[in-house]
Parts: sequence; C-alpha cells; structure tokens
Amino acid sequence: MPTPVPRPRRKASPATKDVLPAEPSPLNTPGVPIGVFRSIRISRSLPEPLATWCVATDRWRVAESTAQLLGGTIRSTPPTDGAFEILTATAEVDIIIDAPSDIRTEMKLWDRTGLAHHCDGQFPLGTSEEHRGTSCGCPASFAERRARARAGRGPQAYTATRFRLTALPDLGAFVHQSLSWELAEEVDRLRASAAEAHGPAHFKLRLAEVEFAGTSVQKLCYRRPFLDFVAPVASALARGGTACQQTVADAARAVSTVVQAILAPARRASLRAA
Ligand SMILES: [Zn+2]
Repeated sequence: MPTPVPRPRRKASPATKDVLPAEPSPLNTPGVPIGVFRSIRISRSLPEPLATWCVATDRWRVAESTAQLLGGTIRSTPPTDGAFEILTATAEVDIIIDAPSDIRTEMKLWDRTGLAHHCDGQFPLGTSEEHRGTSCGCPASFAERRARARAGRGPQAYTATRFRLTALPDLGAFVHQSLSWELAEEVDRLRASAAEAHGPAHFKLRLAEVEFAGTSVQKLCYRRPFLDFVAPVASALARGGTACQQTVADAARAVSTVVQAILAPARRASLRAA
C-alpha cells in the first residue's frame, strides 16, 4: 500500500482542488457513472486534500467491491453526497479508459446568472448554431488562461475522466473530475495515447505531491491527480495478466479483501441500522 503523505501546511489553491461540481457530468459517453473518485472531501465545511483516493457511490455493491479492492472502510453519507463513501488506502489505481473522448477538458465560468462562459478553450460549447465555430476569446496558452481564471476574469478548467477499474471491469464506469490546470494541460497528450491504443487502454490514476518554487526557503508542495498511459488493454492481456496484480501492494490488497469480506455483513447491518 502507498504510504500516506502528510498534508502540506498550505491553503488550498486552485491547483489542489479536485472536486465534483454540483452539476451533471460533462462526459458525453452514455450511461450514468456508478461512482466518483475524489482527492478532496469537505470536512467541517472546508476542503480537505486527501493522500489517498476517496470514492463516493450510491450503490452498496459498488461500495463493497471498491473497499475490497482498494482498502478503506465504508461510511454512510447524505444521499446528496453519494450515500456511501470509502476513504481508500491507495493513491494509485489501475484503470481502463475505453476511448479518447472519455478524457475531456471544458472551460467554465459561473456568475450570478449561471454559466457565463462555457468553451473547449477555443470555441463555445452548448451554444446556439449561429455561435458555433466562432472563437470564444480565451487565450491560447494555459498559463494565460490560468492567470485570468485566478483573477476572476476567465473560466476554470474542468477535466473529467470516465473509466473502469482494471481489476473489476464489469462493475461499471466511474468518473473523476478535477480542477487541476496541470492535468488539463496534459489532456491532449493523454487523448493521443488513448487513441494509439486503438481500443481500451490501461492507465494509472494516481495522486502525488509536486513541489513548486515558493518565495521563502521552505519548500511548498501540493497534491494533484496524474493520469499515466501504461499500454493498450489487449497487449497487457497478451503478456499474461494485468499489471495491477503484480505488486506487493496487490498482495496486501488481497489480504485486505479477505478481511473486508469477513467484516462486510456486520458493517452493512450497522450502516442500515444507522
Ligand atoms: Zn473560452
């Protein structure tokens, strides 16, 4: 299992935010996601960056399977937050991305009237026919877009990834949504990798700390999501098994699976009684 990284003593910045906006999923592929992967959760009304993935779902079977695979315990949450939540024991998950279009970044700016700016960085989205194909006015560079967003003058990047778990491909599709500008900047490259797979592709979805230059001698760091292309799913299977079953962490997960299976009936009964 990955060792949890101590939380940095730093206020959350736009780069650390990684939340599910209270709006419909922007993914254009059919079907409702069965759960959401989060790297931030709200604790006492404040965003709390997490060292390991937190999974929210409204389905008990999904919660149970996820906890067995990734570790962690299931707790009940208000239905608006997904009904069940698992703070897993892992910061790195093997996933399958079925198509390049399952990784997508949109730019959004909200004001009192609603969605004031919605684009793909070049052209408006969700607008009438007459405005399609006309430049939205966003700068070409991510650095400029980010600066404008921080100043409240431009839209924020929302990156959504739809995926299945490599170890449980039949469970259904999860979604991860992030406000990370770094991840948004990598989307074109990631989609190109997914396209080269000519079918489902094996990626790793991980949380890791990155450092940046601060003004003081103290090193500043924050945690952000990464997507790493591994291989086309077909070639991984041809090598005799998925990569996610070959590590010490997976041996630990196997032990956890047995323990979770033993505890599950009692935990389910207590949650339903609550
Ligand atoms: Zn725009």
